Amino acid sequence: MRTAMRPRYYCDHCNKGNGSPSAMKRHERGCTLNPQRVCGMCAKQQDDGGPDPAPPRDELIRIMDADGFKAMCEAANDCPACILAALRTKNYPADGESPGGVAGPEDGRESWSYTQAKQAWWADWNSAESERRSY
Ligand SMILES: [Zn+2]
Ligand SMILES: [Zn+2]
Repeated sequence: MRTAMRPRYYCDHCNKGNGSPSAMKRHERGCTLNPQRVCGMCAKQQDDGGPDPAPPRDELIRIMDADGFKAMCEAANDCPACILAALRTKNYPADGESPGGVAGPEDGRESWSYTQAKQAWWADWNSAESERRSY
């Protein structure tokens, strides 16, 4: 019998782990707990002729503190990952799935759901994608 101990790689920012260092590097770059994150979802949209990527996380937090949750979503082009990254700094639940427990005024941030926002984002993306294919 042989045993193999394979290394596991963990994100510096959250507790995600993966057996592949390159997959983990990719995750770390866009991790919503990484203050210097480069958003993969925003990059996807931009590649596709969409809006410029959302401003860095700290800028989004500044906008949210100054002008509220809705203004921040707009600045983030409604990108669920960028919104989650900003909300996570306000005690948003670590699993990112269920709303509630967000510090600050109840201006929509308390009922926002990453799961729902992500579903809507992908639905948009897929319908745009099928439109492109039909030309
Ligand atoms: Zn992570
Ligand atoms: Zn984004």
